[in-house]
Amino acid sequence: MENDYRIETKCIQSGWKPKCGEPRVLPIYQSTTFKYDDSDQMGKLFDLEAEGYFYTRLQNPTNDAVAAKITELEGGVAGMLTSSGQAANYYAVFNICEAGDHLICSNTVYGGTFNLLGTTMKKQGIECTFVNPDASYEELCKAFRPNTKAVFAETIANPSIVVLDIEKFAKLAHDHGVPLIVDNTFATPINCRPFEWGADIVTHSTSKYMDGHAMAVGGAIIDSGNFDWEAHADKFPGLTTPDESYHGIIYTQKFGKAAYITKATAQLMRDLGSIPSPMNAFLLNVGLETLHLRVPRHCENAQKVAEFLNGHEKVAWVNYAGLPDNQYHALAQKYMPNGTCGVMAFAVKGDRDTAVRFMDSLKLVSIVTHVADARTCILHPASHTHRQMTDEQLKEAGIAPDLMRLSVGIENVDDIIEDLSQALAAI
Ligand SMILES: *Cc1c(COP(=O)(O)O)cnc(C)c1O
Repeated sequence: MENDYRIETKCIQSGWKPKCGEPRVLPIYQSTTFKYDDSDQMGKLFDLEAEGYFYTRLQNPTNDAVAAKITELEGGVAGMLTSSGQAANYYAVFNICEAGDHLICSNTVYGGTFNLLGTTMKKQGIECTFVNPDASYEELCKAFRPNTKAVFAETIANPSIVVLDIEKFAKLAHDHGVPLIVDNTFATPINCRPFEWGADIVTHSTSKYMDGHAMAVGGAIIDSGNFDWEAHADKFPGLTTPDESYHGIIYTQKFGKAAYITKATAQLMRDLGSIPSPMNAFLLNVGLETLHLRVPRHCENAQKVAEFLNGHEKVAWVNYAGLPDNQYHALAQKYMPNGTCGVMAFAVKGDRDTAVRFMDSLKLVSIVTHVADARTCILHPASHTHRQMTDEQLKEAGIAPDLMRLSVGIENVDDIIEDLSQALAAI
């Protein structure tokens, strides 16, 4: 069985399956539209009666092959690509939440997701309660309301590096009859497959490790097929009652385990249109072919860098779950025994200006907004993404003014450490 191949084999072989005489390498179907011989064939596609391609906003063979690969890597039943990680998280939630609904989200999620759920979706009538992911099960239960439709969290939070107790969150969601959506961007399916711990839907910003080369912004949504929408039919009418915009089909009845992704494609892609270009999906696929080689190397390098920084007299603190004294070490050992990711947070002793002088002294490590690609890079939120905030405001937002986010790449680790070392000597 193909699904039994090991994950390294899936990185290379899953997705594009050429038939006799077809290209061995995934072709880029750079075409908006697809040709049919008669009008009836095309009509069946519009009725969702037959499978096939007609317009790239809905589906494209290059995009679908890459979505199929990520679906196999995560161990899901259906998946789709989106134009960005932001679009993936938006669709994942909006597919099951509408005006008047509520969801619960970890307060450590990526800033973009925090804004999306806390501000933008609020304008659409969807309310979000942000919770401390480390709170007890009993405490977290208090956040639920009768109209709660989903729980959302990140496997490893960006940039605070908080590791999620996935089993606790899955139980919490399921005990209240709603699915758990997990953004698995930082761990990747190489280090953690949230479905194995009870998550129902996984999202990705493929812009990070999956692409791995910082070439293409993209996202993905994968469904485990495990959540029983019909058992909670009153909560999810969009999936369990007729869709008038598709001649009254009922997604759960017609598509079974593929209901959630089919609805997201047929309704949300149709109406909102955040598709990736086939060219970007092709680039993502090239990245995925070496994901299983790159991720362990990122972790190995990051572990050595974290140990170096942790032992340095000019370093105030290091937050990396691979360090034995880290608050999240035990959770990381349970969910990600082979390593977490290449990203860590740390601070040098001194003030905001000391951090700036340290960064300006770096030669190999570059200052960029991106994280989680092949090149080692660093960002100081207080000077960059959050520069309009005072130290007090930063602390309120849970970001230490001295916090630097270091994303360790796959260069030779000795060169990375030597660069950090000379910059530390300069302060
Ligand atoms: C970057 C990121 C996103 C947003 O993804 P884009 O591809 O930049 O839109 C969402 N979640 C996490 C965890 C991220 O790191």
